[in-house]
Amino acid sequence: MTSLWLEEAAPFAAAATALPPRADVVVLGGGIAGVSAALHLARAGVDVVLLERGELASRASGRNDGQLLLGLGEHYHRIHGQFGATRARLLWDFLRDNHELLRAAIAAAGIDCGLHEHGGLRLAETPHEYTELATAAELLAAEGKPHRLVAAHELQRWLPAGRGYHGALFLHGEAVVHPVRLVRGLAAVAADAGARLFERAAAATITGGAGDFTVRLTDERAIHASVVVHCTSTLARGLDRTGLLARAVFPFRGQILASEPLPPAALAGFPPYAMSSNFCYEYFRVHGGRFVIGGKRWSVPGEELGVLDDAGHHPVITQNLLAYVREHFPLLAATPFPHVWTGIMAGTPDGLPLLGALPGEPGEFALCAFNGYGLSFAFLAGRCLAEMIVDGHSPHPAVPLFAPRRLQPN
Ligand SMILES: Cc1cc2nc3c(=O)[nH]c(=O)nc-3n(C[C@H](O)[C@H](O)[C@H](O)COP(=O)(O)OP(=O)(O)OC[C@H]3O[C@@H](n4cnc5c(N)ncnc54)[C@H](O)[C@@H]3O)c2cc1C
Repeated sequence: MTSLWLEEAAPFAAAATALPPRADVVVLGGGIAGVSAALHLARAGVDVVLLERGELASRASGRNDGQLLLGLGEHYHRIHGQFGATRARLLWDFLRDNHELLRAAIAAAGIDCGLHEHGGLRLAETPHEYTELATAAELLAAEGKPHRLVAAHELQRWLPAGRGYHGALFLHGEAVVHPVRLVRGLAAVAADAGARLFERAAAATITGGAGDFTVRLTDERAIHASVVVHCTSTLARGLDRTGLLARAVFPFRGQILASEPLPPAALAGFPPYAMSSNFCYEYFRVHGGRFVIGGKRWSVPGEELGVLDDAGHHPVITQNLLAYVREHFPLLAATPFPHVWTGIMAGTPDGLPLLGALPGEPGEFALCAFNGYGLSFAFLAGRCLAEMIVDGHSPHPAVPLFAPRRLQPN
């Protein structure tokens, strides 16, 4: 069971073949985090090798909904509530800066990844959620962030196929993309810049220390490096000898369905926005004439927390997503949804990613645990990590929020 995106995308054509004995930096993991780190390190003149266990973008980075979001997918006043005004602004600006940097990289390299920058629509499932969206809109207005609060009676114009919503918040600056074409396109840019990216190269152990690490692969190959970067999400926590990733990063599984191509009359009812409802727990978009929807993990016992298997899916979640479609998009009630897939995300207790040095192991860094929003976060985060490795620090003011040492027990 794989994603629509993985079925559609061409394989990565520039994978390296002969593992060198040594590199300055070895990056573990070839999702968007590892690819971005490798790209920015190579651009800075660093000799970098990336090791990916399977194919590039074959795990979460190739199994998501392809939405480039602002505000961690949360309604903005909730981010204020959780982190305080100053940090909320830093987080919002980080994501905005990420999208600008990514847009520029896509344009410069001509990456054909279906980028549609039409904005995002956060829909209210209840009158209460609409009052929360209105509160978020007040804060966004006070801070000059472009948005539009959409009342229920206006929704027919914004989302003609939608039914049963109580209003919405439109955010300029959100976008959708084909995630696999994006990540493999960026990987080609990294290879052009001098990074060597290996597929089917699974790291098994790390020994040694700063300046002289040895990374052994499961197939007995080995490579030495001065610096190691963990970009394996929650999939290889055992490689981190400090134990921080095993303690602080937890897996959870998300699930997505995609319809058959819709007839033109039905398709006309769906705008090209990044869309979500129920505080972003359900999310949807159109792609290639299909309706693509994910979420509902909260609707089953355990909420898919701790699940590491992305070969299967949860049949009750499938039924609940289909029930959502029937309720909110009745014109799709009889539409078949032949594509079902899952992906494993990585979370942290405070909802923020890890970006920086792993405390206790000089020379080892982590870039992971994006709490379900890595596609929106990781491109700029990869540049910040490269700056830390090359210059000793990143100038982006949000970076201290993501320091792994914050999750170290006292
Ligand atoms: C259903 C779903 C919907 C989502 N929707 C969105 C969305 O709309 N917008 C958004 O911003 N985010 C979304 N996300 C989250 C986003 O996909 C992730 O945050 C992001 O892809 C994480 O990237 P990553 O590089 O950290 O991890 P991954 O993409 O999981 O990459 C980690 C890589 O490490 C490799 N690896 C593991 N072990 C080893 C080893 N021992 N040696 C070498 N390599 C190894 C894996 O094979 C894998 O390729 C969604 C996720 C899911 C699952």
